Amino acid sequence: MQTISPEIVFRGKDAWLKALPEISKLTKKPLILGRSIQTLNLRKKIYKDLKARDLRIYSAELEFDCCYEDLLRIKNIILRDKCDSIIAAGGGKVLDAGKYLADSLHIPIITVPLSASTCAGWTSLSNIYTKNGQFIKDVSLRRCPKILVVDHKFIQTAPVRTLASGIADALAKWYESSITSSKTNDGLVQQAIQISRVLRDQLLIEGESAFKIYSKDNVSWINVIEACGLTAGLIGGIGGEKCRTAAAHAFHNAITQIISPKKFLHGEIVGVGILLQLKLEELKNNNKLANQSIKQLIVLMKELNLPTKISELDINVFENNNVEKIANFTLRDESEIHFLPFEINHKDIVDVITDCEKQEIKL
Ligand SMILES: [Zn+2]
Repeated sequence: MQTISPEIVFRGKDAWLKALPEISKLTKKPLILGRSIQTLNLRKKIYKDLKARDLRIYSAELEFDCCYEDLLRIKNIILRDKCDSIIAAGGGKVLDAGKYLADSLHIPIITVPLSASTCAGWTSLSNIYTKNGQFIKDVSLRRCPKILVVDHKFIQTAPVRTLASGIADALAKWYESSITSSKTNDGLVQQAIQISRVLRDQLLIEGESAFKIYSKDNVSWINVIEACGLTAGLIGGIGGEKCRTAAAHAFHNAITQIISPKKFLHGEIVGVGILLQLKLEELKNNNKLANQSIKQLIVLMKELNLPTKISELDINVFENNNVEKIANFTLRDESEIHFLPFEINHKDIVDVITDCEKQEIKL
């Protein structure tokens, strides 16, 4: 079974207003799920607009992350108040938590991304973390969201850092799917990989201007937020299981195991993972173009203020056995790194991490 896309997608400046009649048809007692204080005003607006349509509305907030503690607490609220849907309004963690809960309670999920930081509003996947943000696993859900609302005015209010993070996460689609699925005969997967190449090119061309001219009338900004929030999700939907994540996300998952005081966004860590993956390809797969790709990506990532090595994620890999911990987690049996079409071992991981940390790439 493949879950390709949300049932209905609203996009544009007034997407939320346009979605309201459809949402009121679907639900009478929704729970609005959110998390951060920065999105509180938008969630209040969502609440007010639904209230004006005579809906009985409940709300809840994640305290930590998309973690079992929060999921259980909110599940009990939904059951107690007999909510008949979830409206998840926030970043990737909130959307993932909403989707997971709706799936397990057999109620519809409406996703309202409030930033362009991930494609979680589209997909039928939820990543589960610990309270401290350490990756545990991803869970495949039975379906994509019932309604996805990508309201440009809402996303406009997000910090520009979330856009940079979304760009890095969306770029990973090409670097990961093209290597894991390059030999596939499945036409749909081949097409998904080609969409991810076009997506990469658009982000390389328009990413910087979208980031620097962060204004609502900027065509690049619209193209880039929709590339991150919609196209990246579509690629996952069409490509399905065969259009897999690979080393970049495996490195992300491993890096989250090291708890550092400063919290980094998913895409900020994935971006570092892409560079490490390319380094592995150069070292182990004789990919002569990998170094060119690294240089090209680093130029963009610097412009977007994205970290380019693990030390820029406030982790010193040379202390507390951190490099060992990252290598061990990256290589565990269930890791996506094993989808790479070549063998890698513990020493390879340690070597590429050490290399990336020490190397000052001359641009
Ligand atoms: Zn991701």
